[in-house]
Amino acid sequence: MRFYWLRQIPRLPKPAQGPRQNPNSPHQSHRGDSMAVLDKPNHRGSAEVTNLDLGGDKPETWEDQWKCFKMTFYHTLTIQTPMCLAVYIYIEYVDLPCDWNSMPRWYSAVLQIFGCFVIEDTWEYFTHRLLHHKTLYPYLHKVHHNFQAPFSIQATYVSHAETVIIGTGFFFGMLAFCHHLFLLWLWVVARVAQNTHVHSGYDVPWDPLRLVPFAATARYHDFHHLNGQGNYASIFTWWDELFGTDKEYENYNARGRQKEMKEDDN
Ligand SMILES: [Zn+2]
Ligand SMILES: [Zn+2]
Repeated sequence: MRFYWLRQIPRLPKPAQGPRQNPNSPHQSHRGDSMAVLDKPNHRGSAEVTNLDLGGDKPETWEDQWKCFKMTFYHTLTIQTPMCLAVYIYIEYVDLPCDWNSMPRWYSAVLQIFGCFVIEDTWEYFTHRLLHHKTLYPYLHKVHHNFQAPFSIQATYVSHAETVIIGTGFFFGMLAFCHHLFLLWLWVVARVAQNTHVHSGYDVPWDPLRLVPFAATARYHDFHHLNGQGNYASIFTWWDELFGTDKEYENYNARGRQKEMKEDDN
């Protein structure tokens, strides 16, 4: 269901000679429209967009969403539940405080959750980028790119290995900052909400993340799925900016702005 106040992430129009004008560009969204071929060399200096198999242009059908649901349900039972049990053992082992008196103040909680996000984001950027290496990608990360136009439930549509590799960042944040059960719950809720949001496929006008400098939005991560590389971080944009892995995204946005200006002129 699409709501009128939600703006689906816009796509650039089909190139004049069809979506496969550039044989190196596998870019076509599952929503039935196509993005323009990116004609700017990628950040590695190569004109080739990607060597990775993005899994084809499968439409975003109910069958695909059902397949995604089944996989994520299986995934939840077989890898996320054991990881949650490990957290429970950790809570018991360190005797994590859960009393009212040792509850952090709200501003302290906000700062500590921000710290968790910084750690998680840093870990995710480098491990995610590593998983895009051609020797690792087919075995560890390709499954997450099965859908080029993500939807929320697809946030956990990943291999078990990827859950462990990228998910480790969550535990680093937990160990560093979650010294109260309330903080741990808050961190779990914040991380799940953030991951669900960036995979929603919606560019929401009232998204509070737009007020946070360097925050990655759904549009930002949507581009990663559409393009197959770049925009490796999904929480903050600073690592991509620092290493120039957001260049293709900037190019894509510039082309969108040019198109809008041309339409306004006509
Ligand atoms: Zn990826
Ligand atoms: Zn993703």
